[in-house]
Amino acid sequence: MTILNHDFLALTLANPESITPFQVSFSSGVGFVEETGILRLEPKQASAVSLVLSVGIHGNETGPIELVNQLVSDILTNKVTLGVRLLVIIGNPVAANAAQRFCDVNLNRLFNGAWQHYEGFEAKRAQRLEKAVSDFYALSPADSEQIRLHYDLHTAIRGSVHEKFVIYPFVEKAVYNKQQLGFLAASGIEAVLLSHQSTTTFSYYSHAVHAAHAFTVELGKVHPFGKNDVSRFSELEKALLLLIEKAQFAQTPLSALRVFSVQDALVKDDDSYQLNIAPNASNFTQFEAGYQLAHSLKSEYRIKQNGDAIVFPNTNLPIGQRAGLVVRAIAAEDLSLV
Ligand SMILES: [Zn+2]
Repeated sequence: MTILNHDFLALTLANPESITPFQVSFSSGVGFVEETGILRLEPKQASAVSLVLSVGIHGNETGPIELVNQLVSDILTNKVTLGVRLLVIIGNPVAANAAQRFCDVNLNRLFNGAWQHYEGFEAKRAQRLEKAVSDFYALSPADSEQIRLHYDLHTAIRGSVHEKFVIYPFVEKAVYNKQQLGFLAASGIEAVLLSHQSTTTFSYYSHAVHAAHAFTVELGKVHPFGKNDVSRFSELEKALLLLIEKAQFAQTPLSALRVFSVQDALVKDDDSYQLNIAPNASNFTQFEAGYQLAHSLKSEYRIKQNGDAIVFPNTNLPIGQRAGLVVRAIAAEDLSLV
């Protein structure tokens, strides 16, 4: 087997469920296709940096898939010199072929072992992806210098007041990494949402289980394959190239970032549950204190402070699931950084 035309995405979409493992070589290293959509690239020169780049965890989020596929192609054709260990993951090829977010279950709710409670392709896939990440970090030199990274790249269903933003995983003592935040700012990220609890997302798994610097990165709106303006990711691409070639983190002052903390999680508590927002309302849309943001026959939610905003509103889900987050801007200077 080979990666025809150095097109890892085409190979993955042509073999959406599984593939027999094989190796490829290029001038700066060697690559291992371990399973469909799972490509481990090891540099010739030993590196302390182990970087996981995952895309397409939601099958229809094609922009980041195309970005990372180009990067892989540039490495395999020796245009880009690999200077770090790199694990590339195309998360859900079956859903990507169907141009759907997922087939049976939302894959990004199945990590941290949650897959054990579900059936279907996504449950098996989550288990396999956890193993790929686990094996990848385990193969790196076990010294204190090791830097584990995981950027899980997504695009969102709806627009956003802050087009590009990241979700910082819940960290126990609320101490955040300055270099990572500076790198994200340099990558064109405008806002950081500090997660308020542990979750079952892919990035949270890498953070909680492997102590990686791990982020869910939202890069703008969903478009079909071929309809993405990849130039919108140019700052991220530049920062990733510096990281991949030279193991360096591009830095921009943190004052460029808007920081939000989660105030409340909205939970759909009844079939009558409704959000009082426009159907196409953007993420981070703000409201005035007292505004009735949600109501059902059982409850209502009113905005507590002027400027509180909604992120990820969605009522098209089962009772008991999260219908959105209410977030509040906080000053970047107030963060504890290390
Ligand atoms: Zn997504």
